[in-house]
Amino acid sequence: MALGEFQLIERFFSNGGAVRDDVVLGVGDDAAVVRVPAQHELVVAADTLVSGVHFPAQLDAWAVGYRALAVNLSDMAAMGAAPAWFTLALTLPQVEERWLAGFSRGLRDLAVRHGVALIGGDTTRGPLTVSVQILGLIPDGEAIRRSAAKVGEIICVSGSLGDAAAGLKITQKGVQERTGDERHLMQRFLEPTPRVALGLGLRGLVSAAIDVSDGLYADLGKLVAASGVGARLDIDGLPCSSALLSCVGKERATELALSGGDDYELCFTVPEQRMEQVQHVAAMQGEVIHRIGVVEALAGVRCHAAGRPVDMPFTGYDHFAP
Ligand code: ADP
Ligand code: MG
Repeated sequence: MALGEFQLIERFFSNGGAVRDDVVLGVGDDAAVVRVPAQHELVVAADTLVSGVHFPAQLDAWAVGYRALAVNLSDMAAMGAAPAWFTLALTLPQVEERWLAGFSRGLRDLAVRHGVALIGGDTTRGPLTVSVQILGLIPDGEAIRRSAAKVGEIICVSGSLGDAAAGLKITQKGVQERTGDERHLMQRFLEPTPRVALGLGLRGLVSAAIDVSDGLYADLGKLVAASGVGARLDIDGLPCSSALLSCVGKERATELALSGGDDYELCFTVPEQRMEQVQHVAAMQGEVIHRIGVVEALAGVRCHAAGRPVDMPFTGYDHFAP
């Protein structure tokens, strides 16, 4: 028998994440109530995944749930915030219990790992759309903004770039037999790692940060524009995984690192004298940080290879581009 809306919520989303004692009232009332500690600010972000736009329609339900929360955790990471609670607005074409079981497991697995609680949401019928709103905490005035990069600072990025974009293409091909490298790239698309602990560690050390969701070139462009500065990017030094290099070669890897989306790495700027501390913080968390450029006064992002300027006509994904 098909589940009704209320049974569906009860069954799949009433314990959808970590249990936290700062949740005064969770799923079940008209709204949730949470306790915000003194001397802290609330950090709020929302991100929507639309089937066929942000993920292929046939994507595994677990991965849809996981990614819906991961992309929001990544926004918290970029602010240096500690994620605490989230809500879920779910639009479904029909009630498919198997799909819902997988989806809610993907969501819960990541929520528990990061200690965030699902405190409410909304459930409607329509084309598959998953919208998560996340709430986090930060000590007063300490949020890392996009707008505070200064000329002369080093531009860094965590992890490696371009894997997820390659992984998405492999996922879309739907081939059955895949190499270990191809599986690694797919994994990077299906299961991005939000750099939450790194973001917390960078707070107080870095000047500006953004998470790389639309491609490095576009997202760094947003950061420097918000800061009223520009950037030189040394594209020889972009971190690409050995899996990516062996699957697509150096040239294509560099292109994907610059313009591919869905990496969910952190890009930030830091004064040279703090680099050592930043490297230390990253190492403590088992994260890798690469220097990829320098903040300059001239607006825009300029790519350099072998010390010379190169033209890169890339732009990020724009939902409303003509
Ligand atoms: P209302 O009609 O008052 O807005 P609903 O009937 O939509 O409330 O939802 C009932 C309760 O279930 C609310 O607490 C709401 O936050 C929660 N809820 C609804 N959909 C979801 C969902 N997909 N995930 C988590 N909680 C949900
Ligand atoms: Mg109500």
